[in-house]
Amino acid sequence: MSRLSIAHYFPFARVKVLGQNVHLECEPAGTMIRLVPDHRFRPRCHECGRPGTVHATGLRRILRDLAVGPAQTYLDVEYRRVWCPSCRKAKVEQLSFADPSRRVTHRLARYVYDLCRIMTIQDVADHLDLDPKTVKTIDKHFLGQEFGRTDYQDLRILAIDEISLTHGQDGYMTVVLDYLTGRVVWMGEGRKAETLDAFFAGMTAQEKQGIEAVALDMWEAFIKSVQTHCPRARIVFDLFHLVKGYGQVIDEVRRQEYAKVDPHQRAFIKGSRYLLLSNRENLRPDQQTRLNDLLAVNRRLNAVYILKDQLKAIYRYRIRAWAKRALDQWCRLAAEVDHPLMRRFIRRLRFFEYGILNHCNYPIGTSRLEGVNNKIKVIKRKAYGFHDPEYFALKVKQALPGTKVTTETG
Ligand SMILES: [Zn+2]
Repeated sequence: MSRLSIAHYFPFARVKVLGQNVHLECEPAGTMIRLVPDHRFRPRCHECGRPGTVHATGLRRILRDLAVGPAQTYLDVEYRRVWCPSCRKAKVEQLSFADPSRRVTHRLARYVYDLCRIMTIQDVADHLDLDPKTVKTIDKHFLGQEFGRTDYQDLRILAIDEISLTHGQDGYMTVVLDYLTGRVVWMGEGRKAETLDAFFAGMTAQEKQGIEAVALDMWEAFIKSVQTHCPRARIVFDLFHLVKGYGQVIDEVRRQEYAKVDPHQRAFIKGSRYLLLSNRENLRPDQQTRLNDLLAVNRRLNAVYILKDQLKAIYRYRIRAWAKRALDQWCRLAAEVDHPLMRRFIRRLRFFEYGILNHCNYPIGTSRLEGVNNKIKVIKRKAYGFHDPEYFALKVKQALPGTKVTTETG
């Protein structure tokens, strides 16, 4: 060996660098560092960390380490078994730089975890020439340490929604968001009352009492769970979901009208679904013209469309009595549109009126939930190929840690 030392690249406790082998003919070029126990130190038990007595020597293991320059670096580690008086068993010696269950060093694992924050598992695996399964196991391990436990502190206002993971019926996950900070607090598989019950089960009575309001879709399972665990919390129904539900009414009326009218009018209705369901602001000028023409020729669709805007308007009131009056008037006008789906929508609106009017007290917007859903979609694409809801939930929590500053509602 030359006098140039590589030892300080491997500042590991209780071992010393014995030598280095360079394999330039390998692709990529590799270097093998041989580490042996430093006999000045007593070996420790990896289980409990206490010193033990040497039980067996000369055991060897190959570990991947961070690359030194372009060279892929392996550690050829000689280690011992120790007799641990506390565990009363022979155990593998504790190595300060690696876990006995892993084939990579701590510092490489940490690097993998950092990369996984911004890259896909496959990209990290390709970049470091590791098995994707190893990469995922490492990422999940660190995520579990950092985000595995639910942090129930300082929760006042929640937004709860479900997201679909797969195309199937069972592929749903429930997401609980701290509305004020944007932090994803919890995720669970399914979208039943029991799903959400599991979230509340981890809370103390005092923490439950601290919940003032919960933004929800009109989904009975969640309503039931919230009412059971936080009976004093105000439930606020989400405008976004309400308008989405109303979209079904629009679409059905559109279909009915299409079947009913003469060919001339039919040309206006054909392909108008998107025009009717989108926000007017999002339409191009030519689309807006088409929409206006359609509404001018079909009175019924016009009525249904105006009702959509008026439904949104109910959410602009801050005084409960006024919101109530607007809602009553809306139901009267809507009843004039003679359609079974509309009648059903009115009944639902009446049934869930309390949660719409609660919006006056807690004007909880939907923008946060939509932002969260968009971010979740990105993670879903990145985690492509791994059907592991637990891992997915940890990734979402990592990506949406929330802001530290608490903002006011609205
Ligand atoms: Zn021990």
